[in-house]
Amino acid sequence: MCGIVGAVAQRDVAEILVEGLRRLEYRGYDSAGVAIVDDKQNLTRIRRLGKVQELSDAIDEQHVVGGTGIAHTRWATHGEPSEINAHPHISGDISVVHNGIIENHEALREVLKARGYEFVSQTDTEVIAHLVEWELRSASSLREAVQSAAAQLEGAYGTVIFDRKDPTRLVVARSGSPIVIGFGVGENFLASDQLALLNVTRRFMYLEEGDVAEMTRREVKVFDSQGQAVEREVIESNAEHDAGDKGQYRHFMQKEIFEQPTALKGTMEGRITHNSVITESIGVNAVEILSKVEHVQIIACGTSYNSGMAARYWFEDIAGVSCDVEIASEFRYRNFVTRPNSLLITLSQSGETADTLAALRIAKQRGYMAAMTICNVSGSSLVRESDIAFMTRAGTEIGVASTKAFTTQLAAMLMLVTAIGKEQGRVSSEKEAEIVEAIHALPVQIESALAFDKQIEALAEDFADKHHTLFLGRGEYYPIAMEAALKLKEISYIHAEAYAAGELKHGPLALIDADMPVVVIAPNNDLLEKLKSNVEEVRARGGLLYVFADEQAGFEEDDTMKIIPMPHVSEITAPIFYTVPMQLLSYHVALIKGTDVDQPRNLAKAVTVE
Ligand code: GLU
Repeated sequence: MCGIVGAVAQRDVAEILVEGLRRLEYRGYDSAGVAIVDDKQNLTRIRRLGKVQELSDAIDEQHVVGGTGIAHTRWATHGEPSEINAHPHISGDISVVHNGIIENHEALREVLKARGYEFVSQTDTEVIAHLVEWELRSASSLREAVQSAAAQLEGAYGTVIFDRKDPTRLVVARSGSPIVIGFGVGENFLASDQLALLNVTRRFMYLEEGDVAEMTRREVKVFDSQGQAVEREVIESNAEHDAGDKGQYRHFMQKEIFEQPTALKGTMEGRITHNSVITESIGVNAVEILSKVEHVQIIACGTSYNSGMAARYWFEDIAGVSCDVEIASEFRYRNFVTRPNSLLITLSQSGETADTLAALRIAKQRGYMAAMTICNVSGSSLVRESDIAFMTRAGTEIGVASTKAFTTQLAAMLMLVTAIGKEQGRVSSEKEAEIVEAIHALPVQIESALAFDKQIEALAEDFADKHHTLFLGRGEYYPIAMEAALKLKEISYIHAEAYAAGELKHGPLALIDADMPVVVIAPNNDLLEKLKSNVEEVRARGGLLYVFADEQAGFEEDDTMKIIPMPHVSEITAPIFYTVPMQLLSYHVALIKGTDVDQPRNLAKAVTVE
């Protein structure tokens, strides 16, 4: 789930490992640890509850030497966050770090106890250490022992192992949790995300499902799930070197909110002319597939689910194609019906979201005409396993609370629905030109939304001492309200709910009182008059209203209703535009509350466990 870094080098690797962990801190974690061995087989293991900085301080104090090591940030799934449960785990001469879950850990624990192993932690990970230690007794190499152990493990994992007695070798196994190898000169590295290694190398190789690899200073050998030696492609990464750097900003989340104009330009690049969408740019066979699509099934989790919910309005309204959106963890476990000529779309920032990936794998067996992913990380599992990967190109997103990934997903889907509508003759060239013009205007439009930063900062004071907030919208602004509520929950820990404004009187109106701020998203569209009636319903019950309203929408401010007048923007892209003030609001409320904005409690980036 969280971070793994490994290195085999001539030089001391402690600093490289810690720097790698720092670069993965954004994923969220509760503890961190390293195990390092030198050429004389001296092993040092240091683990700390809390931040990587504490681990780093402890390493500095002990002057750890050694050229082979593994490091980990843990996001507890089995056993509380504690030093004892932190990785690496050790059995005899074997040290192990592990991401993910071993589902059959209880059964294995019983078998291993019967063999005389003593368990010191509550983790599922510890079974890997003992199992490899056991297998090594009869195997001819560590790699063989890991292969035998891996064959007994069920679940999703990435794991790295070394043997103190063979101190220049790491063995790594990938099954459901990403691992990338990084090549140096006379030294090699590995990590759960290439970002961790960008300061030491640019040459990478992604392991595939079921692969086991063996790494020394000079050599990396990869074996597939059948134990056959295989070659995997080596790629040169052009990822931004400084993506892990906050620059002038206080938080990654803030940086990423302000990066949205540039991120959106990246999404559009090469995909639209001045008046049309280039369908071919969406992917191989896109013209053929999109011209036949009769139904779209979107699968996603969290923020990506909200963007799918918003885009659903566009799929049906603009492209005239029916669209369902479902949470991946529900979809994967129910017996769904596949409609004829259905396109499956998975949405995920990381491309490693475990439930979404599992849903994709199931759906591929169930007769979808094609599987597309809209994703931000090239080389990720969703990208590799889908027929079409429509990359959002937002740049690395580090803040756990997703921002630019959401708006770029929406922009990508707006281009996609336009392409479908065009290929199927439902979007005229005039309509296409109108949409494309609105897309071109997006970066400037988002700049104008960002200009509300100071005003929203002042407004945030009203929210910081409240326990609940309600967000209201109609049409595609209902999912935008859902995303606003999710953001506020995630980073300020204030309970927030979103409602389709018309649904208020069916229950939530009972909640309204002077302690419940109600945020309303009010663009000037066909539903404005309906929305105004809903606002009156709240006002009549003494609610505190904050209306982000189109300047032409005709709301009047008074004691119970604050109006934040927004510039009039194209109706087509307005849902993307109105997302930005909502992001800024949750950011500023969190700042006032003093929460850990980039790594909110209990959460992790890239949710690679189910
Ligand atoms: N399941 C393991 C544990 O709880 C690994 C968690 C992780 O992916 O960080 O220790």
